[in-house]
Amino acid sequence: MSKLTDISYVKNILAKHGFTFSKALGQNFLINPSVCPKMAAMCGGSENIGVIEIGPGAGVLTSELAKISYKVVAVELDKRLLPVLEETLSEHDNIKVINGDAMRLDFKKLIAEEFDNGEVVICANLPYYITSPVIMRLLEEKLPVESLTVMVQKEAAERICAAPGTRESGAISAAVNYYAEPEMLFKVSAGSFLPAPKVDSEVIKLKILKKPPVKAADEKMFFRVVKAAFMQRRKTAANSLSAGLGMPKAEINALLEKSGISLSARAENLTMQDFAEIADLLSERKDST
Ligand code: SAM
Repeated sequence: MSKLTDISYVKNILAKHGFTFSKALGQNFLINPSVCPKMAAMCGGSENIGVIEIGPGAGVLTSELAKISYKVVAVELDKRLLPVLEETLSEHDNIKVINGDAMRLDFKKLIAEEFDNGEVVICANLPYYITSPVIMRLLEEKLPVESLTVMVQKEAAERICAAPGTRESGAISAAVNYYAEPEMLFKVSAGSFLPAPKVDSEVIKLKILKKPPVKAADEKMFFRVVKAAFMQRRKTAANSLSAGLGMPKAEINALLEKSGISLSARAENLTMQDFAEIADLLSERKDST
């Protein structure tokens, strides 16, 4: 078992470096000894497949990732953690810690430079304040990665992994389902973290699809439609689309009727194919004007 899941060991190292937890940076470190080995084993890293970690914290997950993969590159925003990581990860020679912001870093360049464009997976206990933007950024950039295995708050996991056409679905799940096959892996209780957050977490895996499950002529239009449809989720999709796209209701109704979509449907009732059809009709309309 890693020393890093021994709460007093970690507390001592953090205290020695004068470290105090930052709520703003979503710093809840894992202290449950069974979680990191399980997460590492399920992320897909191996002797041929590298791992990128976002937010190594004190390095508890990082050291498990270094046991299953030939190379781990960990990106940490908080400079105060660099000397901590130097100490906690000193026994591994296959880890590189980079001081950077996961919202800005050029991941394509990192994959080319650090992994020679070889196979890579992403594995992280994500800071909760950027869960959705980070996931969306990693997906939208179409990075050459096989999968993202991430720990997120339970409610976020449910929203992200929701199947299209279900009550929990939203703009984020539609986008996730466009790029990946989402899967809930396992629950992690709030007591597994230091300090303990108010809510439980869930580890999810997004397996990147080779091609999207639906074909939209204009991908940008597809995402405009998805965003607009879910903008006012308590209203009908027709009303929400009309407001979100700035188009007369009569025109939206005509588009929906042409696609065989009920005028009383809400965005949560629409399938990926429905969104693609609306987007294609809008693109055709744009091209003919
Ligand atoms: N991996 C550690 C663990 O499981 O115990 C720490 C996870 S903690 C939930 C999130 C980590 O992400 C913190 O170390 C925090 O400093 C770091 N972080 C926050 N914002 C970040 C960003 N924009 N880019 C990279 N790391 C970030």
